[in-house]
Amino acid sequence: MRVAIVGTRCLEGVALARAMVANAIRSHPDAIFCTGDADGIDAMVREESRLQDRLCVIFDVRPERLKQAGWDRRRRWRLLKSRNQDIVRWCTHLLRIYCPGSPTFGSGWTEQYARQQGRIILPTIAIRCPRHQDEEALMGAEGFEPSVR
Ligand SMILES: [Zn+2]
Repeated sequence: MRVAIVGTRCLEGVALARAMVANAIRSHPDAIFCTGDADGIDAMVREESRLQDRLCVIFDVRPERLKQAGWDRRRRWRLLKSRNQDIVRWCTHLLRIYCPGSPTFGSGWTEQYARQQGRIILPTIAIRCPRHQDEEALMGAEGFEPSVR
């Protein structure tokens, strides 16, 4: 099997996310893996597969083209989308490890596309990063009446 592991950048440095990545790689002894060239989950997949001496294919957004796109969001997304489609074309299975507080939906898009393309979707793992936990605490959970001191 060829397993793509995708996810959110903001989980960079989150130990639980790292443990989940390590476990996913360990629990598929016959698989080869792929991921993207981003920080966060992608970086963990690259590092863990190296540590566990496993093969991992890296799909990158060509840096010179991303540079050309500058801050043009539509041009950037077109490049990222084409990279994400390459990942889906390559894999037989896809695992998404993401932060539900993240404002970007890149790995969510990839998971939906993989499902549409008939790939096997492994159970998705949601882990909230510390930064997005704080934001939720500031806004207050829905239906929760903040106590007044
Ligand atoms: Zn987050």
